[in-house]
Amino acid sequence: MEELKCIGCGATIQTENPKEIGYTPASSISKMENEIIYCQRCFKLKHYNEVQDVALTSDDFLKILQRVGETDALVINIVDIFDFSGSMVAGLSRHINGNDILLVGNKVDLLPKSVNKTKLNHWMRRSLKEYGLKPLDVALVSAGKGFGIDELMEMIEKYRKGRDVYIVGCTNVGKSTLVNRIIKRFTEEREDIITTSHFPGTTLDIIEIPLDDCSAIVDTPGIINEHQLAHYVTPKVLKEITPKKEIKAGVYQLNAEQTLFVGGLARMDFVKGERTSFVTHFANQLHIHRTKLEKADHLWATQAGAVLKPVAMDNDQLMEMEKHTFHIGHEKTDLVISGLGWFTLSGTGQDINIYAPKGVGVMIRPSLI
Ligand code: GDP
Repeated sequence: MEELKCIGCGATIQTENPKEIGYTPASSISKMENEIIYCQRCFKLKHYNEVQDVALTSDDFLKILQRVGETDALVINIVDIFDFSGSMVAGLSRHINGNDILLVGNKVDLLPKSVNKTKLNHWMRRSLKEYGLKPLDVALVSAGKGFGIDELMEMIEKYRKGRDVYIVGCTNVGKSTLVNRIIKRFTEEREDIITTSHFPGTTLDIIEIPLDDCSAIVDTPGIINEHQLAHYVTPKVLKEITPKKEIKAGVYQLNAEQTLFVGGLARMDFVKGERTSFVTHFANQLHIHRTKLEKADHLWATQAGAVLKPVAMDNDQLMEMEKHTFHIGHEKTDLVISGLGWFTLSGTGQDINIYAPKGVGVMIRPSLI
């Protein structure tokens, strides 16, 4: 087939992968008139003012980040508070080159009411510091439910000081949902607004929403973060493990040498310590299976994918589990499995092992409750 290009963004048209640039359903190509063709993304943007995320390779993304670094701009980094380490854009601090940064934590609707927002805010700032980033401010939003959007818009206006605003984030963090909310806010106020996707002839995929005569909000493509658990489960399983609404906590009083399995995706061994209360925060539909530590290896060997399900797979292989070891030094601690949920435990001095699919972030933090 002769190579076709989208007249909106210049990307080469392809019909194989909806998540990648230039995707057009084969059926629309056969209906095409006079060789004028839009990729699905530009079509939606043109006709419905709706943004769809596409994935780019890291090289292409770096080129965009370089562009941000060369501009005096406000950078909005959107992260999924449920999958913090899976939301981090590698090398962001280096690339944005000292530009101001605003951190937006999305998906607050999933958190139990008992989560203390101030503690969450502090934890997010501290975590970002580990990546060399110091945000001017932190906004907590639910792009899905529309919470916190007014406050975010006010923050953007306060900090941008007439400059362009770049929105950056990994795929799955809810970036498109948020950008669509932002576009909606602007188009409610101004009817003449035209959102554009442009970068003709390149694969650089940028969407601009004009703010005033000389500045715009620029939506950059989502970058793939391979540490996301989302990449190692099928779409069906992803639905099962993704919380859809506020998480309900479960309480387990455990003695040492007991184990909790979180479906077939993670395992927590309480190796040593006094009797402890473990509060689980995972998707309500995920089954927590309790057993004795001495039986846990055998159970995993014989029941992964059966009693212990769902499991994470990589190229049809059961994913290797990585062990993370913790000694609890503070009263009230969370052990977090990024993208899955967390355990809160009280008391100190316990030895805990957590097993999670290799590459998925597991960390400790002062409890948010
Ligand atoms: P993108 O890849 O970053 O553009 O992410 P999307 O906007 O496509 O969203 C990824 C997934 O997260 C989708 O299943 C959304 O429904 C979900 N999502 C987005 N925002 C929220 C939110 O505020 N709360 C919840 N619970 N889910 C959200």
